[in-house]
Amino acid sequence: MESYDLIVLGSGPAGQRAAIQAVKFGKRAALVEKLEVIGGTAINTGTIPSKTIREAVLHLSGFHYQGIYGVNYRVKEQITMADLAFRAQHVIKTEIDVTRAQLSRNGIEVFTGIGSFADPHRVHVAGSRGQAEYEAANIIIATGTKPASTSLVPFNNTTIINSDQILQMPVIPKTMIVVGGGVIGVEYTCMFATLGVRVTLIEKRPRLLEFADTEMVEALCYHLRDRRVTLRLNEEVESVEDHHESGVVANLKSKKKVSGEALLYAVGRQGNIDELNLAAAGLEADSRGRILVDEDYRTRQPHIFAVGDVIGFPSLGSVSMEQGRIAAANAFGMPIKSNRALYPYGIYTIPEISFIGRTEEQLTDEGVPYEIGIAYFREIPRGQIRGDTTGRLKLIFDPDTKLLLGVHIIGEGASELLHIGQAVMALKGTVEYFVDSVFNYPTLAECYKTAAFNGLNKLSKT
Ligand SMILES: Cc1cc2nc3c(=O)[nH]c(=O)nc-3n(C[C@H](O)[C@H](O)[C@H](O)COP(=O)(O)OP(=O)(O)OC[C@H]3O[C@@H](n4cnc5c(N)ncnc54)[C@H](O)[C@@H]3O)c2cc1C
Repeated sequence: MESYDLIVLGSGPAGQRAAIQAVKFGKRAALVEKLEVIGGTAINTGTIPSKTIREAVLHLSGFHYQGIYGVNYRVKEQITMADLAFRAQHVIKTEIDVTRAQLSRNGIEVFTGIGSFADPHRVHVAGSRGQAEYEAANIIIATGTKPASTSLVPFNNTTIINSDQILQMPVIPKTMIVVGGGVIGVEYTCMFATLGVRVTLIEKRPRLLEFADTEMVEALCYHLRDRRVTLRLNEEVESVEDHHESGVVANLKSKKKVSGEALLYAVGRQGNIDELNLAAAGLEADSRGRILVDEDYRTRQPHIFAVGDVIGFPSLGSVSMEQGRIAAANAFGMPIKSNRALYPYGIYTIPEISFIGRTEEQLTDEGVPYEIGIAYFREIPRGQIRGDTTGRLKLIFDPDTKLLLGVHIIGEGASELLHIGQAVMALKGTVEYFVDSVFNYPTLAECYKTAAFNGLNKLSKT
């Protein structure tokens, strides 16, 4: 039986990084992927397709230039699902090729087939071309998640879908129901609303994106409503009816009926653990398929680790990669540094929201005094040039030490812009750094300087 230092189950971002890190330590690593394509949810159905569709939507709808040329400005009049799929398929294919080449260059063997535990050290691989068993000193589970299914929703792959099935919708509907006000539901709501679809977004909690700063989420809700999105917060779906040619009806617990031509169900995801035979490794998962790990991403078996979405929050591609890297280092007792308190969030709504550090609500709850400084994109020449006059950047800082406690941005490019703040926070910088620095002109980065002045001016008045 072939023997490895590390076998990784799953080829998404978490699994890839774990395997590559092991090879960098001079170890022999293999990766098992159940699908014929590698890359996981990130490349095939989640991050990459959704962000490419978003880019296509922004381009074809002429969104960025509507502030300048008027709301009726379009790059393409009749946008179709084929337009969106064309661009997404191109990027997906390239990303798969790049990833495959990267794994091969690093000497990582990739086995195609369903991986499962034969015992705590042996992995069984069942593929279309046969079966095999491999032995490993260490095993990392990185099998990700799939959309949670529910008997309440009669999925039909065309008009009643989950987020994995977006590209299977034959046409862009005129009206749409989105169930779920988490990141996936809100991102797709924004994309379809930008295409002119009348979206009703249903969320059972009283607010969207509850982990993000309230001010940023309130600003997003303004934009959603401006794009004619109906927000149904504090509302729960009781059942969904497929009326075929005449559309879909969602029956709410409050007895309201919401109808649309299509329905996207984006409520929760379930860990891919059903095929792993966890019991053979002496492991188990919770009711949502999440595997419990410690700080080192170690399961209760010291040589078996779990990383990425299969361990739950934050379920981000960015963080999954880092967890894979850390777990591989821990498996081989190698030192590794990672600033876990400073993992950023990028939410690709329209406009984008991105943040790092703590929110005003968290600091208030913790009794930590703070001051804020705000800059509006409209005050900055680059904001006017880009036609984004509604974005804003907020710095939260300690009024005594001036240390940066959080950065929250809404507006196009927020997810890139945030990394300036991340660097300053990681290096324990203060808001004064922004005042003392010169930024390229005209850039959105100047918002940091304006926000710093705004915040520091408030201090001098008190
Ligand atoms: C619509 C959507 C949009 C998203 N947007 C973003 C974003 O903008 N930014 C961001 O950072 N994150 C985003 N995410 C989250 C991101 O996709 C995930 O955090 C990331 O893919 C998790 O990586 P992973 O390696 O844990 O799992 P996955 O990427 O899910 O990969 C797991 C792999 O394991 C395989 N597998 C499962 N079971 C087995 C088995 N028994 N044997 C062998 N292989 C198996 C699967 O086939 C899959 O290929 C998005 C997700 C979705 C759904």
